[in-house]
This record gives sequence, C-alpha cells and structure tokens, in this order.
Amino acid sequence: MQPHNPYRNAEYGKKIIDAIYAETTQNWRILDVCGGQAHAIAKYNIEELLPKKIEIIHGPGCPVCVTPKDTIDTAIELALTRNTIVLSFGDMMRVPGSQQDLLTAKSKGGDVRVIYSPLDAIKTAQENPTKEVVLFAIGFETTAPIHAQVIWVAHQQCIKNLSLLTALFAVPPILEHLLKLPEFKIDGILAAGHVCAIMGIGEYQRLAQDYHIPFTVTGFEPIDILLGIYMNIKQLEAGKCTVENPYQRIAPNSGNAKAMEVLNEVFEVATQAWRGLGEVSNTGFKLRDKYKYFDALHRFNTINHKTTMHEQCIAGEIMKGVATPKDCPFFGNKCMPEWPIGASMVSSEGVCAAYYKYRT
Ligand code: SF4
Repeated sequence: MQPHNPYRNAEYGKKIIDAIYAETTQNWRILDVCGGQAHAIAKYNIEELLPKKIEIIHGPGCPVCVTPKDTIDTAIELALTRNTIVLSFGDMMRVPGSQQDLLTAKSKGGDVRVIYSPLDAIKTAQENPTKEVVLFAIGFETTAPIHAQVIWVAHQQCIKNLSLLTALFAVPPILEHLLKLPEFKIDGILAAGHVCAIMGIGEYQRLAQDYHIPFTVTGFEPIDILLGIYMNIKQLEAGKCTVENPYQRIAPNSGNAKAMEVLNEVFEVATQAWRGLGEVSNTGFKLRDKYKYFDALHRFNTINHKTTMHEQCIAGEIMKGVATPKDCPFFGNKCMPEWPIGASMVSSEGVCAAYYKYRT
C-alpha cells in the first residue's frame, strides 16, 4: 500500500477548488512555466475542474523541447564522424534533428550512451582515455549546476578528453522576453518550483514589479498546482503583483547558494537559441573563458550546423500562449509519441505529449 501523500488529498483539493470558484469573478490567463506542471495539470484533469473563466497556458519549460535542431545535429555529427563517446539523457535520444535522432546515430555505429547523472561523464572519460567524451548538457537552472560541477572537477583533475555540448537555458530571462511580446497575453504566472529551488525568487520579484504580474512558486503535485492557481487568482482579483511561495518545503526563497556558486564559477549568461523561439540574448549559459577548453564547439571547431529544414511544428506558438497542441494540424495524426515531428511530442515533459497522453 502506498503511503499517504497529503499533496494528493482529494478532500483538500476539493476545498481549494471551491475557494478558486469563490474568488474568481473575471477572465484570467495563467501561465504554467514548466513541462512538469503542464504534465500534472493534464494528468489530474485540473483544467476541467477550474471555472471556465480561468484559462491555463503552457510555457517554454521543457529543456528537451526547446533544444535547437542545430545542436542535436552537432551531437549526431560528433557521434558519427569523430572518435567520440556522446553522453546524453535518455529523453534526448529520440528528439528529431533535421535528418535523424541520436538513437538512429547509435544504430549506425555512433557511440552514444544514456547517462543518469552528468557526473557519470567523469568516470567515462577516465575509463576511455583514447576517446573524446562529449557530454550533451541539456537543461535549465535545475541541471546547469551539476554540469558546472562536472567541468569544475574535470578542470581540477586535468581530465583533457571531456567536453560539453551545451543547450542550457535560463528561465526568468526567457519569461521576460515573452512578457515583452505583444501577443503574449498572460495575467499570472506559476513559477516552476524546481528552478526556484536553485535560484530563489529574487529575479521573479523584479519581473513581478516591472511587468505588474503576480507569480506563485508552484510544485508538481495536484495540491501544489491548485494552491498555486488559487493564490495567483487571489492576487489578480485583489490587483496585487507580488511573488508568493507556497512551495518552501522544496524551494526556499533564497535558493541554493552552493549550486549558484558553482554555476557562476563555470558558466556565464549568453545568447541562447530556443527551438520555436529563435536566438534570444541573455537566456542561456556558456562556459567562461577559463573553462573554454571544455567547450565541444570550440574543441571541434569545424562544426557549424544551420538547420534549413522546413519547420512544420507550431511549438513556438504554443510557448507564446497563442496556440494549444490541438491547434496543430499534425497533432494526433502525423505527430504522435511513436512518430514525433516536434520535440514537444517526444519528451515526457512536452506539452504535446501530455495532451496526447491525457486528453485524446
Ligand atoms: S503536435 Fe507535434 S508538430 Fe504539432 S506542435 Fe506538437 S510537437 Fe509540434
């Protein structure tokens, strides 16, 4: 028998839903930032339980989904044409590049290995001194510190055959970019709790003031989501725009100082390409000059992929809140988890995959 989980308590959930109904008098559009939140909302059918006046919009929060094809193509080329071992998280293996994915590259003889922790890269590099080990570093502020830790250790231990191919994204700056777009019409934001667990809530406090929008730090259980929506609606109805954090059991307001220290030691903020949104300044992380030796693009400097393939996927419009997966003509027919066109259908955190699994 499973232990009781208070964050899935149906009775408590019903009380919060009743409170949301009592509080809501106007139409509100609430953004969930993260794929994990979108997944939970679809899994627990939360949109159906809310007043019709509340619309949930899904944001850019799945790192696999926003990794550009160019970067995937580069990983594939490294696996197939160089003396490399490419290490990747499992959910990246089936994400389509412009011609193929990493799983196909592996079937063609490329040495592509799935890792469970980026720290595995250290051991792999030590055990394979005649090969170049390339760690495909994907993620938000949540995984950037552990990738930074890998490079810091490699630097300390003079491990020369390890490099990073990075697609590391910064969440608050991309939210600010979206908030400036005229078509991005959002009233309140459910900030992703795991990102706040690392970086705290300071950047959101500025965004809340500058863009007059309330934030609620939200976890991934149904009670977390409902409570986040309730507190956000309460602020909206009262005309407030602050950051509230009911997820302090995991995400203290101050974040994780040690994780931020290693992140800032190894990486600096840089322009980053987002699949579906294009290049956006100051929305990613790149290695500082001191650690540039570990940059795979720098080490294998002949690589310069530029994707020219016709883009069929409307994931970018979904991230801007102007479309839902069901607006996509390929959803559920040409694009399914078994045959994905866009990354949002591949990753388990992708909003299209969540819609397909729970809402078709
Ligand atoms: S259904 Fe497929 S093609 Fe359409 S937006 Fe989602 S991932 Fe892209």
